[in-house]
Amino acid sequence: MIKYNLKCDGNHEFDSWFSSSSEYENLKKKKMLSCIYCNSKKISKTIMAPMISSNKDLENDLRKQQLKLSDKKEKLIQMRNFIENNFEYVGKDFSKKVREIYYDNDSKKGIYGTTTHEEREELSEEGIDLFTVPWLNKDN
Ligand SMILES: [Zn+2]
Repeated sequence: MIKYNLKCDGNHEFDSWFSSSSEYENLKKKKMLSCIYCNSKKISKTIMAPMISSNKDLENDLRKQQLKLSDKKEKLIQMRNFIENNFEYVGKDFSKKVREIYYDNDSKKGIYGTTTHEEREELSEEGIDLFTVPWLNKDN
């Protein structure tokens, strides 16, 4: 089982369980997901998006881990542990901090946090490639 933190277009956030990430995609495609507060069908996953600038070793490690990823819960938790040990959490300031790091070539800092879909698209238009992982709670 995978728990996703979901968000509707009215900015309500809630958690929901799925047997796999493909179950989530299927339900979303069939418009069977709705907000528990306002019934909106416009649901997206809140995105955890770690990103680093010039620390290529760390980035390569992370990409290697992602290649090995499956929907298995323990894998995703390993990934989360890796990120927590190597990246600084900046929460909702993520898109602002990413820009600071991106435009400062000397920075070796790795950060992670959350972005909205819109922020993510803006960053990608600026050429900032984000790395995204499903984020699991370790205690369930
Ligand atoms: Zn809602």
